[in-house]
Amino acid sequence: MAYIKVDNSKVTKEVAEKLLKICPFNAFDYKNGTLSVNANCRICSVCVKRGPEGVCTLVEDEKKLIDKTKYQGILVYVEHHNNEAHPVSFELVGKALELAKVRKEPVYAIVIGHNVKHLAEEVLTYGVDKAFLYDDEAFLNFNVEIYTNVLEHFFKKYQNNIFLVGGTPLGRSFAPRVAARLRTGMTADCTALEVTKEGDLMQIRPAFGGNVMAKIETTNNRPQMATVRYKMFQKPPVVKPHGTLVVEDTKDIKKDSLIKLLEILNKPKAKDISESEILICVGRAFKKQADLELIEPLRKHLNADVACTRPLIENGWFDPRLQVGLSGRTVKPKLIINIGISGAVHYIEGMKESEVIITINNDPNSKLFDISHYSIIGDLYEILPRINSLLEAK
Ligand SMILES: Cc1cc2nc3c(=O)[nH]c(=O)nc-3n(C[C@H](O)[C@H](O)[C@H](O)COP(=O)(O)OP(=O)(O)OC[C@H]3O[C@@H](n4cnc5c(N)ncnc54)[C@H](O)[C@@H]3O)c2cc1C
Repeated sequence: MAYIKVDNSKVTKEVAEKLLKICPFNAFDYKNGTLSVNANCRICSVCVKRGPEGVCTLVEDEKKLIDKTKYQGILVYVEHHNNEAHPVSFELVGKALELAKVRKEPVYAIVIGHNVKHLAEEVLTYGVDKAFLYDDEAFLNFNVEIYTNVLEHFFKKYQNNIFLVGGTPLGRSFAPRVAARLRTGMTADCTALEVTKEGDLMQIRPAFGGNVMAKIETTNNRPQMATVRYKMFQKPPVVKPHGTLVVEDTKDIKKDSLIKLLEILNKPKAKDISESEILICVGRAFKKQADLELIEPLRKHLNADVACTRPLIENGWFDPRLQVGLSGRTVKPKLIINIGISGAVHYIEGMKESEVIITINNDPNSKLFDISHYSIIGDLYEILPRINSLLEAK
C-alpha cells in the first residue's frame, strides 16, 4: 500500500508546524523532535506538494501492469425470475454484439439457476457464441453470496474482458459484490458504452448532477464491469443459433451462505411505465395538481399512460413509480408526449430511445426539442384547451 515517508533529518520545529497546519486530515504527530504520520493519513499528498521540499515523499507500490491481450470476450449476465429471462439481459447481448465488432471479440452469456437450461438455449438465439450454464439445486433462488461464488469460479477459469449486468434491483446488489470479489472496477447505470481497439471499455454516464457525461475506464483490472438499466439499449433480432451451450461443473463452488431465504412474497403487479406503448409525461410547468385534468381528453383519446418528472414526485402529485429518468424508470414507448418539461439530462437519458417524441414547451431553447420529432412551442394552458376542443369536435 502507498504511504507518506517523512525525512526527519530535514524536520525542524518550524517545518513540523507548517506540515501540521497544511495537513487537512490531522495526520501528523510531532513528539520529541520527531514527526510521524498517523492513521488519519488519506495519502492525499498535500504535504508532498505544498510542504517544505523533500520532507515528505509519497512511496507508491510498484504497480504491475496487466497483459490486456490475455482477456477476451464480453460476458452478459442473464437475470431471470419465475423461469423467464429479464429482457434487459437480451438488450445487453445486443450491446455486447455491437461492442464485440471493434476487435472481433466473442460474446458470452452466463445463466445461473436450477432447471434453467431453456434460458441458456434462449440466449443462444440472440447470437451469443457461448452460453455458460451453472445449474444446481443450490442456485434455485438468487442468493448474492452463492451467485458471487459462481462468478468467481467463472472468472478464475475464463479470463473475460468485459462483464455486463442489468441495472435492475437484483443486478444492483449483485454486480458490486462481484466487482469487489474480483478486485475490479464497476460503473453503475451507464447510459452508453464504447470500446477501444485495445479492448478498454468506456463506461459513460452522467456525473456531477448531470452537468458532465463522465467516461469512466477500468485501466488495470479485468473484467471491466458495468450495469445498464432496462430499455437503454435495443434487443437484437432472434437469429439461427450458432453458439454452443457449455454446462459447467458446479461441485467445487461454495454453496453455503449466511443469507437464508425465508419466504418469497410477490408484490402485487403494478402498472410499469417501462412497458407502456403511449405515454403522456408531465412536468413542473403545471401550476397546480388540478390542472392535470387538462391532459385527460388527450389521454383518453390515445389510451395513454401518464408519467412525470421528478419535481412532481417530490411534491407528492404522483406515485414514485411513475417518474421517468435516471433515478426513475427508463421508458421506450412508441409515442411519448412531453408537456412542460425542460429536458434535464436526468430526464432525457430515461426516454431518449422512445420511437416518436412530441414536446410542448414555451421555451424554444428546451433541450427536448433537439430530440423531438414534433415540437410545439407555446403555452400549455393555451395549447391543451385547443387540442381538447379539436378532440371534442371530432
Ligand atoms: C442525481 C439526480 C437525478 C435526477 N433524476 C431525475 C429523474 O430521474 N427524472 C427527472 O425528471 N428528473 C431528475 N432529476 C431532476 C432533473 O435534473 C430536473 O430538475 C427535472 O427533470 C426538471 O423537471 P421539469 O422539466 O419538470 O421542470 P423544469 O426544469 O422546471 O422545467 C419546466 C419546463 O416547463 C416550461 N414551461 C413553464 N411554463 C410553461 C407553460 N405554461 N407552457 C409550456 N411550457 C412551460 C419551462 O420553460 C421549462 O422548460 C435528477 C436530478 C439529479 C441531481
